[in-house]
Amino acid sequence: MGRRIAVVGGGAAGMMAAVHAARAGARVTVYERNDRVGKKILSTGNGKCNFSNERMSADDYYGSGKELIDTVYSVFGVSQTKEFFAGLGMRIKNRNGYLYPASEQASTVLDVLRYEMDRLKITIHTNRQVGGIVRCDAGLLVETAGHERKVYDAVILACGGRAAPKTGSDGSGYLLAQELGHRIVPTAPALAALRCKEDYFKRVAGVRCDAGLTLRIDGQPIRYERGELQWTDYGISGIPVFQLCRDAAYGLGDGKYVTVEISLLPDAESAGGLKSSQEKDERHESFWADRWDRQAYQTMEQFVTGVVNKKIGLLLLKLAGIRETEVAEQVPAPLRRKLENLFYRFTVTVKATNSYEQAQVCAGGIDCAEVSGSMESRLVPGLFFAGELLDVDGKCGGYNLQWAWSSGSVAGRAAAVGEKGTVRV
Ligand SMILES: Cc1cc2nc3c(=O)[nH]c(=O)nc-3n(C[C@H](O)[C@H](O)[C@H](O)COP(=O)(O)OP(=O)(O)OC[C@H]3O[C@@H](n4cnc5c(N)ncnc54)[C@H](O)[C@@H]3O)c2cc1C
Repeated sequence: MGRRIAVVGGGAAGMMAAVHAARAGARVTVYERNDRVGKKILSTGNGKCNFSNERMSADDYYGSGKELIDTVYSVFGVSQTKEFFAGLGMRIKNRNGYLYPASEQASTVLDVLRYEMDRLKITIHTNRQVGGIVRCDAGLLVETAGHERKVYDAVILACGGRAAPKTGSDGSGYLLAQELGHRIVPTAPALAALRCKEDYFKRVAGVRCDAGLTLRIDGQPIRYERGELQWTDYGISGIPVFQLCRDAAYGLGDGKYVTVEISLLPDAESAGGLKSSQEKDERHESFWADRWDRQAYQTMEQFVTGVVNKKIGLLLLKLAGIRETEVAEQVPAPLRRKLENLFYRFTVTVKATNSYEQAQVCAGGIDCAEVSGSMESRLVPGLFFAGELLDVDGKCGGYNLQWAWSSGSVAGRAAAVGEKGTVRV
């Protein structure tokens, strides 16, 4: 008879763990507090599920798990994930390294996992919130709210973090781990938009533009991202902003002053392989000198038109204190420099990140120093972890689901065979 294994949480990591444990001969029961498994998967990748990425390394992740990620990915990485899903009959679409089901339906990913769980006769208890896990002589006792108490040889905690709680991940997994002695690294919303202090955002809401963004905390540059910036009525959004969110959230949590410096002409910054800031400055200067010269006869509204999106151009004029009707040649030099500077260093003040409700991922979680390379707790034998519950959060682009698949498969296999140390799948 195989080992009895409980998986707490039927998300991406939990289902992956369940499948791998059952394939290794374990008798697996999944406890899911929602009325169905895999709810979050359906909303991933705008409904298309960007389930992995060809370009993947520990450097694409934050948190205490860098070494753990290397170990786990050396056992079950992107190629094993592709093989796994292909083996379940799912065709894969590769868009510049970003991997999707060829159907472009996130439901395909969930469906193939469900079919495999059925085939492997995995027991799935939905509407069951696990409220406690207790060590006992025979193993680990799992208690569900009002329903049952059952002993298992091993338990895999895969409850997710705090992001998108409407999909089920309400942070209750942290309490379960904490009660068993685990340390939780403070959590923060990651991959979410930033809410800003300035009052002009309604004027530019809806604009999208290419931009280079530098996150500064107490004035120090922390991270640079380049991509499509989306202006909203409360601040800034879009993938490059999402990538700054976790650091902004921790900075704000520490009471620090958080700003984002926006370059609206990012090509001018990096174009031509310009290396030194002197070269960049010279390039900027010649661009503007040329424009002030050629467009000298224009009104300033006309002058900024065609440089960037018009709404943004008009906002910059206002912030520089230049009237739209003023003729370019009459604008005094200090105001010209002020306007030019705004195109490269437009600074917004971050007052908050969007909440967990709107965040795609939760940073922080179970301290990876307390987790072995087989995803087993170093404190409680027989207790395993998988997915976002751990202090691992990845960039936007398939990295977070890949962590769920990899950590889930390693945890499932290790729990089933009951071995210590690193697992070879
Ligand atoms: C809108 C959105 C879009 C995203 N898009 C992408 C993308 O395209 N690519 C990508 O890589 N990542 C994406 N992510 C992130 C990715 O979905 C998650 O990192 C991943 O699903 C985490 O999987 P998980 O199994 O660890 O946690 P979850 O998916 O959160 O699953 C945890 C499960 O545990 C259950 N649970 C919690 N507590 C208990 C309990 N006490 N008892 C029983 N059950 C419990 C929950 O109901 C839930 O079903 C996106 C996230 C969101 C919100």
